[in-house]
Amino acid sequence: MAAVGRVPLIAGNWKMNLDHLQSIAFVQKLAWSLKDAHHDYATTEVAIFPPFTDLRSVQTLISADKLDLAFGGQDVSAEESGAFTGEISARFLKALDSSYVIIGHSERRTLHHETDDEIARKVAAAITHGIVPLICVGETAADLEEFGPSAVPVAQLTAALARVPKATDVVVAYEPVWAIGSGLAATPEQAEQVAMALRAVISDVLGAGVASATRILYGGSVKAANIASLMREPNVDGALVGGASLDIAEFSSIVRFLKHVGT
Ligand code: PEP
Repeated sequence: MAAVGRVPLIAGNWKMNLDHLQSIAFVQKLAWSLKDAHHDYATTEVAIFPPFTDLRSVQTLISADKLDLAFGGQDVSAEESGAFTGEISARFLKALDSSYVIIGHSERRTLHHETDDEIARKVAAAITHGIVPLICVGETAADLEEFGPSAVPVAQLTAALARVPKATDVVVAYEPVWAIGSGLAATPEQAEQVAMALRAVISDVLGAGVASATRILYGGSVKAANIASLMREPNVDGALVGGASLDIAEFSSIVRFLKHVGT
């Protein structure tokens, strides 16, 4: 279980699913489902990452209904403003009350060829505007075979933190690429081994105090059936959930992992 002082975070990455009208119905149902189950947000924080076009609707609903859900974008520009067609700046996300932003998801690294340097610049842009970057790192199956489990995530995190001022709040998600959407999650032992290595990187770069306060999530085929065993690991402080975050019953069950952690 997460060390004292680190509030577990369950984050739902919707990817390119649910338009703004669907997002409103979804967030209402999710909030009801968690309320019905008496979920205590102080013991496990919940964040959702809808598409950009949903953010204004989600913000309005969360604010009007005083919901405890946090939210943010799935990506951000490294630039402040200007001639960058299609980009969204950290300032715009902050203006919509985003608390977090996902940066460096493997789909962006692979499909959009994002480099480590670009990711470091995005992380810095988020921090400049008071948004907590949720930095994704993870190895492919080929990396795993060639370099072992920790080398690539460690190198990616080291690069991503290059421009981060000391004493900054960041969240890290270890997402082995081979586990994303595959139905084959890492074992709790595998997740713990890499999470421990990532915490050592944070300690080296940002200091031991920041390292012990930073949430490190696991992501990759997380379901209600495997969350409890992952959350028993001391360095795993939550989950970044893709597919299962679109199923309200499944996602609320993941959020309420404390209820089944002993099972
Ligand atoms: C993801 O894409 O961040 C992810 C973890 O996806 P899934 O849960 O579907 O494996």
